[in-house]
Amino acid sequence: MNLILLGAPGAGKGTQAKLLVEKYGIPQISTGDMLRAAVAAGTELGKKAKEYMEKGQLVPDEVVIGLIEERLKESDCEKGFILDGFPRTVAQAEALEGVLEKMGKKIDHVIDIEVPEEELLKRLTGRRTCKKCGAMYHVVFNPPKQEGICDKCGGELYQRADDNEETVKSRLDVYHNQTAPLIDFYNQKGLLRRIEGTGSIQDIFSEIVKILEG
Ligand code: ADP
Ligand code: AMP
Repeated sequence: MNLILLGAPGAGKGTQAKLLVEKYGIPQISTGDMLRAAVAAGTELGKKAKEYMEKGQLVPDEVVIGLIEERLKESDCEKGFILDGFPRTVAQAEALEGVLEKMGKKIDHVIDIEVPEEELLKRLTGRRTCKKCGAMYHVVFNPPKQEGICDKCGGELYQRADDNEETVKSRLDVYHNQTAPLIDFYNQKGLLRRIEGTGSIQDIFSEIVKILEG
């Protein structure tokens, strides 16, 4: 099962992807996580990406397309994968088609998680992420049992540098201008399913499973 989770920053893609990983045993491929790892490691790619990420802009297409092309060749993707945060432009979506075609693969489902803008702002500014295992929490909507500590692994929770109000606003603009056109792109291909992203994390997960197994 090859899946794309589409949706604005804060829609819940990462949260749902982690539940899908547990249920189906296929990997989550998050370009945001891959880029943050490159930034933390101080690689050349990380240095280049950091400038864009800090401003809430997209990293150039060729950089992320290269990352994805390499990642999809890894053996854990053989039974399927969940793309989270990629593609984010029509050029990335077209490049993905080419990469998959060469591998004899295709996308089976594109699920667009829809959440109103004011809710996205609240979700992103209150998001906390585990430094160790990447689990996501929210200070109000999904708090950890003990403040600042991950329930799953005991790691330290931190606030992403780009989850401040000013950068979040740029990221939402970028989403509307550059990523939202993918809704039409995948709708025209008959792959798109839209779901309401408000409600409990478990209810949204059940909706997604219904689509995948329906
Ligand atoms: P994305 O990967 O789409 O940017 P995340 O999965 O990181 O979004 O979720 C953004 C924030 O919203 C996190 O703090 C997460 O805990 C919270 N969140 C996710 N799903 C829900 C939900 N259904 N209701 C309330 N908060 C949610
Ligand atoms: P995310 O973790 O998905 O919210 O992504 C964080 C940041 O990483 C984005 O604001 C972009 O700067 C960058 N990024 C992640 N995925 C992509 C992508 N597919 N294309 C371009 N930039 C990306």
